[in-house]
Amino acid sequence: MTVPLASWIELSEVALKANTRAFREIVGPSRAVGLVAKGNAYGHGLAALLPALHAASDVLFVILAEEALRVRAFEAATGCPRREVLVIGAVTPAEAAELARHDVAVVLADTGFAAVARALVGGPPLKVHVHLDTGLSREGFLPETLEAGLAFLDRCGPEVVVAGVLTHFADTEDVTEQDWALHQLAAFDDGCARLTALLARLGRPTALVRHTAASAAALALPASRHDVVRIGIAAYGLWPSRETRISARNVLGRVPVLEPVLSWRCPSQVVKRIPAGSYVGYGCTHRCADDTTIAVLPVGYWDGYPRLLSGRAHVLVQGRRCAVLGRVMMNHIVIDVTGVQDHGERVVATLLGRDGGETVSAEDLAGWAQTIHYEIVTRLGAHLRRVVLPGA
Ligand SMILES: *Cc1c(COP(=O)(O)O)cnc(C)c1O
Repeated sequence: MTVPLASWIELSEVALKANTRAFREIVGPSRAVGLVAKGNAYGHGLAALLPALHAASDVLFVILAEEALRVRAFEAATGCPRREVLVIGAVTPAEAAELARHDVAVVLADTGFAAVARALVGGPPLKVHVHLDTGLSREGFLPETLEAGLAFLDRCGPEVVVAGVLTHFADTEDVTEQDWALHQLAAFDDGCARLTALLARLGRPTALVRHTAASAAALALPASRHDVVRIGIAAYGLWPSRETRISARNVLGRVPVLEPVLSWRCPSQVVKRIPAGSYVGYGCTHRCADDTTIAVLPVGYWDGYPRLLSGRAHVLVQGRRCAVLGRVMMNHIVIDVTGVQDHGERVVATLLGRDGGETVSAEDLAGWAQTIHYEIVTRLGAHLRRVVLPGA
C-alpha cells in the first residue's frame, strides 16, 4: 500500500498505559478505572486505539450505541475477555434492544426511557445506570423528581436491571476550590438514598455501582472517586486544566506525570525560496520582509487545524519552531523554514507534539485558537491516518 502525502497521527500505547497506571495508583486497588472513548477516542482514533484502551481499562464509557457495538465486535474478533461497556449518551429503543443482546449497559436519564423499556419486553435484560442531575442541568433526573421519573419501573419486569447510579460535575476544571462539586456530591448522596429506597419499595436489588468523577474530580476531589472513575482527557495524557494541576499538587502532594498519547505530523508538499516582498496565502495577510524559504504543508482546517491559528501558530521542524505564515487554508498551510531547510529538501513538520527539545502542545494550539485543548484533539479529522507506535 502506498502512503499518501498527507499528515498523520502517531499514537503512543506506552503513554496511554502509563497514564492509566497513574490513575490506578491515585484511586487505589478497590476502585475500577473506566476510560472514556467518546468523540472517536477524543479524536485520537477509536479504531486504532481500541486495543490499548480495552487492555488498560476495567470499564469503557462511550457516547454512542455504535461505539459500544464496535467494542463488542473487537472482543469477538480477538477473543479478548469482555469489558463492561456503558453508553452514556442517548439511545433509541431499537439500539437499546441491540445493546441488551450484547450485554452493554445504558444510562437511564429521563422519562423518555419508558419507551425504551417497552422495546425490551421479552428480550434479554438491559443494565441501566440512573443519571442524577445534581447541578450541570444536562441529562439526568433532579433528585426531587426521581420517584415520579422512575414510576414506570413499577411496570417493568426483569428486562430492566438497575445496576448503577451516576452524576457529572459542572465545575471541577475551572476552579481550585471545589464548592459546587461538593454541593453536587451532597445532592448525589441524597439522590442515591432516594433511589435505593425506591428500588427497595419495588422489591428490586439496591446494590448499585456509583460513579461521579471525570479526570479532574478523580485527581482533585477524593470524595468523588466512589466505585469507578471515568477518565477521559487525562488518559490521553492531557491535563484537564492548569487549575487541576494545582489542585492535584495540593491534594496528592505531588503532580502525577501524564504523557500525551498523540502527535500530529505532516510532510511538506514543496519547499521553495520566495523573494523579499512576497505575499503568502489568501488575503495576502503576510508579506515577507526578506527572502524566505517556505514549506507548503498539505494540511488545513479540513483536517482539524483551526483557521484561527492563521499567523499565530508555530510548527516544529528539526527541533526548531517555524511560524505559520498567513492564513490556514482548507488543505494547506505555509510555514517559514528559513535557516532550517534552505536547500529545497522535503521536511516533516510536527503540528502537535514533540520534536527534539521543543514541544507544541494541544494547550498551545488551543490558546492560539481561542478554544480548549479538548476541542483541538477531538476535531482532528477521522480521515487522518493513525499510526500506533510500537512499544513495550
Ligand atoms: C466526557 C465525560 C467524562 C470524561 O471527562 P474528562 O474531563 O475528559 O475526563 C466523564 N463523564 C461523563 C459523563 C462525560 O460526559
